[in-house]
Amino acid sequence: SIVVTGSTGHLGRLVIESLLTAGVPAGGIAAVARDSGKAASLAALGVEVRIADYDTPATLTDAFRAGDRVLFISGNEAGRRVPQHAAVIDAARAAGVAQLAYTGVLRGPEADFELAADHKATERLILDSGLPHTFLRNGWYTENYTENLAPVLEHGAVVAAAGEGRVASAARADYAAAAAAVLTGEGHLGKTYELSGDTAWSFAEYAAELSRQTGRTIVYSNVPGETLLEILTGAGVPEPMAAILLGVDKAIERGLLAGTPGDLSRLSGRPTTPLAQSVAEALKS
Ligand code: NDP
Repeated sequence: SIVVTGSTGHLGRLVIESLLTAGVPAGGIAAVARDSGKAASLAALGVEVRIADYDTPATLTDAFRAGDRVLFISGNEAGRRVPQHAAVIDAARAAGVAQLAYTGVLRGPEADFELAADHKATERLILDSGLPHTFLRNGWYTENYTENLAPVLEHGAVVAAAGEGRVASAARADYAAAAAAVLTGEGHLGKTYELSGDTAWSFAEYAAELSRQTGRTIVYSNVPGETLLEILTGAGVPEPMAAILLGVDKAIERGLLAGTPGDLSRLSGRPTTPLAQSVAEALKS
C-alpha cells in the first residue's frame, strides 16, 4: 500500500486527495492516524485506516507492512519529536517498508534554527536505519501566514522580526502534490529534494499584496526580536514556542528560507501557487 502518516492533518489530507486524483485506488491507500474519529472521513473514502500513535511504540507495530511506500509526516510537537520519530522509523524498519519518505525542513543539516533540530535528528536516524528513503525537505507553507490574517487586518500591519528577509513559501497543496509524485513514481530512493515556492517574497511585498487585495493600507512592521516575543506571549503563545517562532524570523532574515531551486514545481509538474492566489483564497474564506 501507499501509506500516509499524519493523515488527519492538513498536509496528510491533501496528500491523500492528490493520490486519489493521480488515480491511486482508495483501497491501495492506508492512512495512519491516532484518532479514529478524525479518520472517519478518510475511511468513508474507502481508504484503509491504521490506528497508531507516535508516542506509543506498541501501537505502531501494525502501522506498516512489508513493501509499503510510506510518507512519514513529521509530528507537530516541536521538541518531543525525536523519540516519537524514532519509534516510527523502528516500526517501518521492522515491517520492511520499500520506501520511507520523510517531510523534513528546507536545507536539512544547514538549517541551524531551533525548529529544525528535530528534523535534522530524524534524517540522521533514517540514514542510520538503512531504510530506502526519500527526504522531502519542506520549505514554509504560505498558509502559515495567510491562515492568520485576523490580527493583520485588525491592526493594518504584518508584524515580523525578519528584516528584509524573503520566504520562498508554497501552498500545502503544492507540497502534497510533490509528495504524491514521490510515492507513486520511480527513481526517488536515496534522493533529497529541497522543496520551496518558485518565488521568494519579502514581508513588505506581502503587506503590499494584502493592501492591494483589501483596498486598505497594510504595512510591514519590522519589530525587534524582544518586541516580537512580547507580542506573541501577550497573545497567549507559550514562551518556548515564541522563542522558536522568533528563531524562524531570524532564519528568514538570514535568507535560510529563500531558496528557489525549483524541486517542488519539478516534482509536482506545475508552478507553485503564487502568494497572490493564496492571499485571495484566504480573504474569500
Ligand atoms: P497538522 O498539525 O495539521 O498535522 C499533523 C499531523 O500529525 C496530524 O494528523 C496529527 O494527528 C499527527 N500527529 C501528531 N502527533 C502525532 C502522534 N503522536 N501520533 C500520531 N500522529 C500524530 O500539520 P500540517 O499537516 O499542516 O503539517 C504537517 C507537518 O509539517 C507538521 O506536523 C509539522 O511537523 C510540519 N509543519 C511544517 C510547516 C511548514 O511551514 N513547512 C508548518 C507547520 C508544521 P491529529 O490529527 O490526531 O492531531
